[in-house]
Amino acid sequence: PLSEITKIHASLSSTFLTSLSSTKPSPPSSTTPYPLLSLPYRQNQLLQLASLVQENADALCHSLWVDEGKPRQEVLMAEIWAVIDRALKSARELEAWVGAGAEMGEDVKLDGWQAGWKARIEKKAKGVVLIISPWNYPITLTLQPLCGAIAAGCPALIKPSEVVPTFSALLAVLVPKYLDPAAYRVALGGVPEITRILELKWAHIFYTGNGRVARIISAAAAKHLTPMTLELGGKSPVIIDGASLGEEELRVAARRIVWGKVNNAGQICVAPDYILIEPAYIPQFTSTCRAALESFFPNGALNSPDYGRIVSEAHFARVKGLLRDTKGRVVIGGGVLDGSEGLQEGAGARGVEPTVVLLDEATAADDVLLQDEIFAPILPIVPVASVAAALAYVRAHEHPLVIYAFTESEDVKREVKAGTMSGSVVFNDTFNQLSVDEIPFGGIGESGYGRQPLKWTFEEFVYLRSVLDVPFR
Ligand code: NAD
Repeated sequence: PLSEITKIHASLSSTFLTSLSSTKPSPPSSTTPYPLLSLPYRQNQLLQLASLVQENADALCHSLWVDEGKPRQEVLMAEIWAVIDRALKSARELEAWVGAGAEMGEDVKLDGWQAGWKARIEKKAKGVVLIISPWNYPITLTLQPLCGAIAAGCPALIKPSEVVPTFSALLAVLVPKYLDPAAYRVALGGVPEITRILELKWAHIFYTGNGRVARIISAAAAKHLTPMTLELGGKSPVIIDGASLGEEELRVAARRIVWGKVNNAGQICVAPDYILIEPAYIPQFTSTCRAALESFFPNGALNSPDYGRIVSEAHFARVKGLLRDTKGRVVIGGGVLDGSEGLQEGAGARGVEPTVVLLDEATAADDVLLQDEIFAPILPIVPVASVAAALAYVRAHEHPLVIYAFTESEDVKREVKAGTMSGSVVFNDTFNQLSVDEIPFGGIGESGYGRQPLKWTFEEFVYLRSVLDVPFR
């Protein structure tokens, strides 16, 4: 109920304030085995989070199968294992992130006339935070930010997506079983509930979703001067430098691009959105895409339990509209599975075949497939005169979350890096930037701001506090 939200906010705030005001943290008790928000407490909660996911992996997989027809293997690979691994790593690395030592922070050595002064930098929890997550990778995109909040020492209210109700309800049952209810809570609901939640003052809002809603949330946050992390999407291009690639490289490129596109049936923020390629390489590229798809789904993607479905009727209607309205020529796929055929449970029936559409060079810019983020297994090919023209096209549009480029040329790599802006640049693969924990992930401009995972998520939830101690003499 909405009336509960204010109470929950007040109780999380009281938890945080109590932990702040006790200069000597209270000794462990039966309800809280470690002093609230101390390092051992945070490490314990991170391990508890890993247990939550590990011990309930089957139920979590099943919930996403019911809600969005997501194949188990995809949930295991991109969500279950990723979150367990990152929760464990966060627990292990936390001391180093915070700054080792009893007082948690980093002493800074001053020189010259300030040599006798004591200076420190401490990474302090911002306070009670709000995490709003989307439906497309709901386990990762809810619990990965939560890892950062726990690591930082911030109590959190989690608002998972109403588009995946089975998952969200399951999470609301599991969180209080595994995590400290004084510090971590789940709120269920849709727009009316989140609107009320946004009236309250949060110390930080971590939002993952689309740019339209990000603007609504930013406006609400601005009323309280609340800092935010915005993990958004957009159109991530793929540049293919055909001249530098041999037959085998082009084959591997097509395979990796198609793989990036069929994951979760294209419903991922880093899906390759469209291809920029010179006309001479298009026939070979499309035939290698076809071969790759045949090897992934020998009996056809729509007959495979390992191929995802479109999440909702509204999105399904939108995707069918794209296929209907494009002026391009469908060269691979194009089929949809409507009605009650196909897989029996949940979203099973809303299937869209992996589809490649060849656009006409002269009219491509106005095509419906080149307007908004596609977020579906449709891959348009845009013929361009050269790699330079491809880069000019990318520069003329909003900064994407990622730019993919397939090339063996170091000069082209340099041009891509120097001549464009995006959250990430990935050469010769797709999707795998998400598997590298050592580099930050996030957007720029329309694709958002702020970074994750691990240490970078932790840093979203802390502020740097300077401490200066000047001697009297
Ligand atoms: P969604 O519809 O589940 O919405 C996300 C959250 O916003 C939900 O919790 C929902 O309750 C809330 N919301 C919806 N309407 C709201 C409103 N009017 N006011 C306040 N809150 C509201 O998910 P979505 O936005 O369709 O997610 C897909 C988008 O997210 C795509 O654009 C995708 O690229 C992007 N995305 C980005 C990342 C990333 O890490 N950068 C990851 C996944 C998805």
